[in-house]
Amino acid sequence: MLIRVGNIEVWRILESVDALMDPLKFFPDMCGDGLSEMQSLVPRQLCPDTGFILLPIQGFLIKTPQHIILVDACVGNDKTYDNFDKWYKRSDGRFMAGLIAAGITPADIDFVLCTHLHVDHVGWNTRLENGQWVPTFPNARYLLPAADNAYFGADPGVVYTESVLPVIAAGQAEFVSSDHMLGDYVSLIPTPGHTPGHVSVRIANSGHVAVITGDVMHSPIQCYHPEWSFLYDYDPVQAARTRRSFLASCCDAGNVMLGSHFPLPSLGTFHEHSTAFKWVEK
Ligand SMILES: [Zn+2]
Repeated sequence: MLIRVGNIEVWRILESVDALMDPLKFFPDMCGDGLSEMQSLVPRQLCPDTGFILLPIQGFLIKTPQHIILVDACVGNDKTYDNFDKWYKRSDGRFMAGLIAAGITPADIDFVLCTHLHVDHVGWNTRLENGQWVPTFPNARYLLPAADNAYFGADPGVVYTESVLPVIAAGQAEFVSSDHMLGDYVSLIPTPGHTPGHVSVRIANSGHVAVITGDVMHSPIQCYHPEWSFLYDYDPVQAARTRRSFLASCCDAGNVMLGSHFPLPSLGTFHEHSTAFKWVEK
């Protein structure tokens, strides 16, 4: 188990950690000095061989007294999105092994909650069975941000076609507003900018609160530089504005943070620091 929030268990379901991209491309606003800063403040997110950004791909399994919820479904197997070699037609058991380690089978999951509809958050929504994409979690309702569905559904690419449409076709999808509440313990926080409908996820029980960032930020270096948006942020200006207010509110509340793409253990807290924030790892 990763952490307990009151009597709620949160498990990490890790799929991979790969060196994906040159940090100067990943954060277009980062200059050479910024890279030095990252090398000193977040060295474990940089591959020692290539200098590329090491990006964990992981979901989080939440066991509340009411529901078993998977937040984000990683890249998945057999998918044909081909921008990154490491994500193309994967055939890997690590994600499923993570569920088993948490004592869960796919049939046990009540809800799959996607923070947004990007390739590394929807993959295990579906699996390939006899040449057809079918929902991986047969008894789950899939909660998808309505604004993301409207955006990506308007011009479906391979990710939407392989990992979202089959869930809708099976009648298992629900399109939710970005402040949706799922049972008594889990709620969505609107964090638009990375995608139009992007959400972060709040878990609360008995006075304890943990927040899953999703892709409102990709690295602890963005605590120090909330203005650095990611290359693939849909609206970089909105993303930066959202990131700063998200950092401020989670910092003020003293929330435990689960950084979806932060270096393992991806667990810590935000604190005020100079004109921005800092990351203190647990
Ligand atoms: Zn992501």
